[in-house]
Amino acid sequence: MKAAVPDFSEFPPGTVTEYTTLVCLACIFDIFTKQIGLAPRSAYSEIKRYLPTVDELTSRKAVRPFFDSEEKHPRCPYCDAAKRWHARLDTHCIEGGKTTDAPRRKLVKSLEKKRDQFAVMEVKSDRRRAFFDWLDTLRISLDLSDPEWLIGATKALLERREAKQDWDATFEGLRSIRPSARLEEGWEREGTRLFLSPALYNESLLVQYLLSRSHEHGGRTLAGRLTLIELIRRMRRGGYLEAHKISDTDQFEIFEKLVDEVAGSGNVKLYFIVDRRDFLDKVKSVYAAYA
Ligand SMILES: [Zn+2]
Repeated sequence: MKAAVPDFSEFPPGTVTEYTTLVCLACIFDIFTKQIGLAPRSAYSEIKRYLPTVDELTSRKAVRPFFDSEEKHPRCPYCDAAKRWHARLDTHCIEGGKTTDAPRRKLVKSLEKKRDQFAVMEVKSDRRRAFFDWLDTLRISLDLSDPEWLIGATKALLERREAKQDWDATFEGLRSIRPSARLEEGWEREGTRLFLSPALYNESLLVQYLLSRSHEHGGRTLAGRLTLIELIRRMRRGGYLEAHKISDTDQFEIFEKLVDEVAGSGNVKLYFIVDRRDFLDKVKSVYAAYA
């Protein structure tokens, strides 16, 4: 019987990242029986307990026995095994913090009795890495060929900053986003326009730049296409560098510090919840065929 799917709807937007990978059980059985030399029965009980590492579950470049495929009937890239040998592992990563602690505890508690179906792993990370993971996930969810993505990216940044605000309502019917010198901090909605304080506006440009940058052409932002130098010039002019005590002259040093300002610094705990249900089902059926 399948347990109810864990519910992530109580977590604020931008605090949960999803990863999916396929694992080839033919490859795993091969490793356990041929390379390690276990009898099929012992291999089966070892494999049932097998828990991949966080890197294996979340890496953008899968290595044997893991692989990624968009195809409906993929074959293992290492041993050519057909679909019935593949198991899917879904992983959710929750960023630790004030806004996620309560729903996370509740969720983990609800999974306690299903410990072999759902594994929970805690990993110490830093805000910078968490920020780039967030950017990667955001890039996948946005359609960069539709100019509306600039508004979506700004919304995502604000959601990350102020999780409690109802941003769906704030962005409803919104036509444009502008900087406002009247605002020292924060934001203000007026009619169909959203005004951001200059610092917040510049940070949103930095996020847009990071999402869309390419080597030759810079990044696309609400303020048009910007190269790194133009972005830094803009932030210097707006007083952002001075306000954040960034006095470097090298553009890459400045860039690193700007990213620190937006990403936040220090450590953060990440909680990975691995859904092993499909894996366990498939290991069982594959073993039945194998034995
Ligand atoms: Zn394989």
